[in-house]
Amino acid sequence: MIIGVTGGIASGKSTVARAFERLGIPWVDADDVAREVVEPGEPALAAIAARHGPRVLQADGRLDRRALREIVFADETERRWLESVTHPRIRERLTERLAQLAAGEAPYVLLVSPLLFESGQSRLVDRTLVIDVPEALQIARTASRDDVDEHQARAIVAAQMPRAERLSRADDVLDNSEGEAALADRVAELDRRYRRLDGLPHEP
Ligand code: ATP
Repeated sequence: MIIGVTGGIASGKSTVARAFERLGIPWVDADDVAREVVEPGEPALAAIAARHGPRVLQADGRLDRRALREIVFADETERRWLESVTHPRIRERLTERLAQLAAGEAPYVLLVSPLLFESGQSRLVDRTLVIDVPEALQIARTASRDDVDEHQARAIVAAQMPRAERLSRADDVLDNSEGEAALADRVAELDRRYRRLDGLPHEP
């Protein structure tokens, strides 16, 4: 069984994944794979360079993420084009990684992805778990972790999928509005549930 874990910026996805890992549950991070598919030598990087030229490359040939981000932020067509190049490759590689993990000893495995719903990666999982925090707390945690001011943090949150929509798509919701001890308890409770579900027919 594969559980897809998602949530907005600074909702606590990585913190939750580490808590599951302490219980013996392995995970794949979609952000890591998203970075891998645009490494030098990868076809996606070649396609991006062919479309946008040297302005999106650093002197050493690696992708200049900031330059590319500025292009796609300003132009919806370019954002869609970039996604059409990267998302299928990311999904393919995630499928491989998840199959490797699922072949191991663990009763279930996690796919941790900020864009689980937006990128079609939810098709790769059996259930979805949304990490949920009120927006005010999300903004405060983003500002204190990433050295951005409250205004910038608010803009990032506003550009993401609305909280209500994410919640409406979730099979399970983990409230991460309290401290780390409460979070560990909630993860342990979900872990017990997922171990019971493993091997049983999944809920639709
Ligand atoms: P991103 O979307 O940027 O990848 P994320 O969803 O993985 O972020 P984390 O990095 O796990 O979020 O957490 C964001 C910040 O909030 C971190 O500084 C983390 O230490 C803190 N945090 C997460 N959960 C809790 C909690 N239950 N209590 C207090 N702080 C927390």
